[in-house]
Amino acid sequence: MPKVYIIDVTNRDGVQTAKLGLAKLEKTMINLYLDQMGVFQSEFGFPTTHHEVRYLRANLELAETGVIKSLRLGGWLRAIVPDVELAFKLVPHLKHLNLSISTSDQMIQGKFKGSKTRASIIDDMRRAVSAARALGAESIGVNAEDASRTDLEFLVDFALAAKEEGADRLRYCDTLGYDDPFTIYETIARLAERIAMPIEIHCHGDLGMAVATSLAGAKGAIDSGVDAYINTTINGIGERAGNADLVAVLLAVTKSKGFAGKNLLGNSINLSLAWKIARFTSYAFGVPIPINQPGVGANAFAHASGIHADGVLKDPQNYELYSYEDLGRGEPEYVETGREICAGEYSGISGFRYIMGGMAVTFNNDEEARKVLELVRYANVESHKPLVEDELIFIAQYPEIARKLLTLVPLENIPSE
Ligand SMILES: [Zn+2]
Repeated sequence: MPKVYIIDVTNRDGVQTAKLGLAKLEKTMINLYLDQMGVFQSEFGFPTTHHEVRYLRANLELAETGVIKSLRLGGWLRAIVPDVELAFKLVPHLKHLNLSISTSDQMIQGKFKGSKTRASIIDDMRRAVSAARALGAESIGVNAEDASRTDLEFLVDFALAAKEEGADRLRYCDTLGYDDPFTIYETIARLAERIAMPIEIHCHGDLGMAVATSLAGAKGAIDSGVDAYINTTINGIGERAGNADLVAVLLAVTKSKGFAGKNLLGNSINLSLAWKIARFTSYAFGVPIPINQPGVGANAFAHASGIHADGVLKDPQNYELYSYEDLGRGEPEYVETGREICAGEYSGISGFRYIMGGMAVTFNNDEEARKVLELVRYANVESHKPLVEDELIFIAQYPEIARKLLTLVPLENIPSE
């Protein structure tokens, strides 16, 4: 029975969103939360981008030492040999990656302007996959950028060539959010029949349908007998109108009329972390969660009108499709309304020990506390806002890893590991 897996791309598609970004510690926290949720893979960044390298290495170390338990960390790169070689040179422990290249005639003509043809696209991709395999990649997804505007026959040729080279999955990118649920179902179902390999569904919300198209695409894959890997981002943050929202996709796969009760998720997901990950990501990006956001919006379980309030009080199922407890909501939140001591880039030892003491984190001596404080200061230089409790605890628990991922040296020749 084919299954649905989640590959969250917040740390790749999310951070390349105009006007938004995340500090490396924030990206790390997202990986940790995704791992705790049981998400299959995090597309954790760009292994050929110099300022990402230390963060990527540090997160791979978290996986190697078991701090990140089951989450796969996948890098994104262009499907060309020089990028593959550079990625493994800069991040030698990389195991999972997605290789991306445009496949539509629009992009071949409009972007490459005659420098590439359909044949050379397949050739580039083949060489990149083969190089990645030779350099030790354990799993490879091959991304057809602008797949929804790509001729289906070419997409089949592209995917079969990728499969022949040893790629594990095809990523069908609805890069411009052009598909609707009906077209993507048809396309993916036909594609899956022809290529018989797992398909990633990567959808955007330019027409307000990212979650719907993701679900319909996944159904197309499953109905044709292959696994579906839905690409999501937390709170739907992504380029332009964004991507398919992680929590909404999980709700749709588990609670919607046609999917509920079918046990389609390939690995069990702890939905009760939904509230926490959505809130943290909202804080980290500095983008509020819309009041009407599925599951995690302020109004997702709010009722005012007489008939609804009466109905939900008699039986929540009258007006709620799922319960707030399932999403980790309902706990009282502590908000400081009086004196507050915050950790910042100019904090001192006394205030810092006071803050950490409030979280039951103690230090053996002032020297140890000073070392952690120094890292917290650097973390603040990057994030420009008070660190949340989990970030402070992470730094106190793993100061050496924190030091690595906080290290940014512009224009350096990055030393090998
Ligand atoms: Zn995208």
